[in-house]
Amino acid sequence: MSTFQAPKGTYDLTPPRSATFLAVREAISAPLRDSGYGYIETPGFENVELFARGVGESTDIVTKEMYTLTTKGGDQLALRPEGTASVLRAALEANLHKAGNLPVKLWYSGSYYRYERPQAGRYRHFSQVGAEAIGTEDPVLDAELIILADQAYRSLGLRQFRILLNSLGDKECRPVYREALQTFLRDLDLDEETRRRIEINPLRVLDDKRADVQKQLTDAPKLRDYLCDACKAYHEEVRALITAAGVVFEDDEKLVRGLDYYTRTTFEFVHDGLGSQSAVGGGGRYDGLSEMIGGPELPSVGWALGVDRTVLALEAEGVELDLPATTSVYAVPLGEEARRVLFGVVTELRRAGIAADFAFGGRGLKGAMKSANRSGARYTLVAGERDLAEGVVQLKDMESGEQTAVPLTEAPAELAKRLG
Ligand code: ATP
Ligand code: MG
Repeated sequence: MSTFQAPKGTYDLTPPRSATFLAVREAISAPLRDSGYGYIETPGFENVELFARGVGESTDIVTKEMYTLTTKGGDQLALRPEGTASVLRAALEANLHKAGNLPVKLWYSGSYYRYERPQAGRYRHFSQVGAEAIGTEDPVLDAELIILADQAYRSLGLRQFRILLNSLGDKECRPVYREALQTFLRDLDLDEETRRRIEINPLRVLDDKRADVQKQLTDAPKLRDYLCDACKAYHEEVRALITAAGVVFEDDEKLVRGLDYYTRTTFEFVHDGLGSQSAVGGGGRYDGLSEMIGGPELPSVGWALGVDRTVLALEAEGVELDLPATTSVYAVPLGEEARRVLFGVVTELRRAGIAADFAFGGRGLKGAMKSANRSGARYTLVAGERDLAEGVVQLKDMESGEQTAVPLTEAPAELAKRLG
């Protein structure tokens, strides 16, 4: 070990476990790439004000969890705590919404930073894959995103996840509900901080995890009873579409995102094998966000799935991903001359698209064969001085143990044939 360790709340991804992370990112993004979503990448930091407005001044993310910094030039920046605000900012900046092709469908993958209390499934640096569909209000779009996330999780072999679904209403009906909820909450026995929250962000109180708070909320007014006809019809359509797609979900009227620009459809993916950090992903509609950050009216919907927690969910379910071996051929040279010759063969194989590796450092046969085994290679190529004198290499099938001498010049073609 060196003098240094990964900072608190972070961890390194190292082989072989890192391969699972790559496979998860790949599996989550594959259905998006096949559904018209284009890849977007934005900086790891943004103007702090973008998140203050685009995530919300009253959220935990902005009040407690952001890593902020002042540059030497005096700019106030924050490491990105989430993806949506950045992606919308970038889409507006590039005028993607003006190309006459709405919705703008984008997907992203990257690192996010939140100053949180580290625990299992909760880190200060974590990784998400996300999707945003910008500029269209259409229940089919909401349904599409939920169906694609479901497809991604299923393709990984996850089964013990649940989809929670709710509607938050819109600017017509939500204010009426908000007031009714505030009136109810003000009569409860709550601490000072929660009382302040009632005034700024009352829907968030519904999300309080404490049992003594939850007990008092049993008779709280339900958003469902306040939805206007347009929101009700929209939500019914989303429900019908995902039901028709065979996606199972649960109505959860307590599921909230307590910001004014989150509207209508909201959903969360939870996994039952993860203990208290059960949310593996979440999303919903954010029809007012563009205007909050100075853009035009662009009703949008999106989600973000946590890669770290998805990997933990796989481990909790005991799912082993079928990861293809990274090395197909492993070359073991015995002697100086063989080293040059076999390295030439390895280079040729690689150029032909065959994954090949090499026993470096002039090691003996026994140690090199151990490495060959560990690499998972299907074939090894061994050559010593006598083989070279005869113009052959020994090709060993690592599954059957069978070994044959193959003319050196034919080895690449022979391997290509055997590996299909
Ligand atoms: P939680 O309620 O667990 O704090 P959240 O509502 O803050 O989650 P979102 O902002 O919706 O989470 O982020 C989407 C997903 O990103 C989460 O469902 C989770 O999988 C992942 N995620 C969020 N924060 C962290 C973190 N600190 N460490 C690891 N994964 C995280
Ligand atoms: Mg959080």
